[in-house]
Amino acid sequence: VIAIKAGKGRAIHGSPVRNTIMPAWVIDKYGSNDVLRFNENVLFPIIHYPNEVIIQVHAASVNPIDVNMRNGYGSASLNMTRDPLHVKTAGSEFPLILGRDVSGIVMECGLAVQYFKPGDQVWAAVPPWKQGTFAEFVVASANEVSLKPKSLSHTEAASLPYVTLTAWAALVNSCGLKKETCPGKRVLIFGASGGVGTAATQLLKAWGAHVTVVCSGEAQTLMNDLGADDIIDYTTGRLQDQLKTRDLFDVVLDNVGGTSEELALQYLKPWSGASYCTLVTPFLYNTDRLGIADGMMRSGITLGSKVVKHLCKGIHYRWGFFTPSGPALDEIGEIVDAGKMRPVVEKVFPFSDVPQAFEKIEAGHARGKTVIEVI
Ligand code: NDP
Repeated sequence: VIAIKAGKGRAIHGSPVRNTIMPAWVIDKYGSNDVLRFNENVLFPIIHYPNEVIIQVHAASVNPIDVNMRNGYGSASLNMTRDPLHVKTAGSEFPLILGRDVSGIVMECGLAVQYFKPGDQVWAAVPPWKQGTFAEFVVASANEVSLKPKSLSHTEAASLPYVTLTAWAALVNSCGLKKETCPGKRVLIFGASGGVGTAATQLLKAWGAHVTVVCSGEAQTLMNDLGADDIIDYTTGRLQDQLKTRDLFDVVLDNVGGTSEELALQYLKPWSGASYCTLVTPFLYNTDRLGIADGMMRSGITLGSKVVKHLCKGIHYRWGFFTPSGPALDEIGEIVDAGKMRPVVEKVFPFSDVPQAFEKIEAGHARGKTVIEVI
């Protein structure tokens, strides 16, 4: 018999006492920072599928996508994923909990979960169509979850999953890089001093690539510490003049977009399998603006035409997207525990200060990650 305890308090794994409500930061509509609302009475998450786990969130982190989602960005596509048959009424995603990263403790497992048990210390990045991690508990699929690296605290661990999996998706899935193929490869990273850039730089260095980073001069010490081989300060002098003095690259990871796309494509080795991958794509913007069908068609035409145009010049052109993956996090955890990758935590906020953490991300100029300590 499970005793149901209504009201505040924390459910402890293995305990027969369960909460029915929990505290969380929610939004009830899209908008600027004042839509963020602390609610102590959010319904406790429920396991819907046998492969899901409930995680007690110890720490989370804020990513630019949280600020964008708060503004309504991506809502057309994300709502279609949440409700593919369109049976729910408009606004059924609210109250919406933002937050993608979690480091915490498994509290409950679905019947098909074999790899985890209550009490395990885990980390994960939860995809944006699911309820997020700015809450005391979150539900994730077991295949999105991994055992937390032993060498990291929850606060440190929460800084890595979303950005590192995004870097992984771009570098491994889109550009075909891996441990075995990296040595000798020259990689150029635009926007290297933020969350994705600091993760990508360290992954590539752990795999033996030669890494050139583009960042502001003020981030040079950080990028040096992370092992960057060559640092280009985009705030002094013309970027193209600085790039011209370097050898051509095998891979470009673009975390900035805009003019950096046209520029970067000129500095790749043609006809050698070189790839350009940008994380700044119009995919969600197009579906928000044009609807799902027209938006996807527009994105398909844009991507297809760029792929063909650059293939004719001997360059692979790619769009990269965050991809949740427990197995990739397992490998990333091994790299971390081997001392080849470290969290870059710029600032830590208490759970009460989530809106201030959003303001920090919105102000830009990140140097690594902003973390929320939930417990
Ligand atoms: P951050 O805000 O953490 O980092 C961005 C970094 O870029 C900052 O350090 C900033 O510092 C630097 N920067 C800004 N302008 C330039 C420039 N012109 N040249 C070089 N560096 C610059 O963002 P993330 O790392 O988390 O994400 C990077 C981008 O990737 C974002 O646009 C994000 O939305 C996108 N993204 C896309 C995903 C996808 O699935 N497609 C997933 C994750 C992220 P400073 O301004 O001081 O130079």
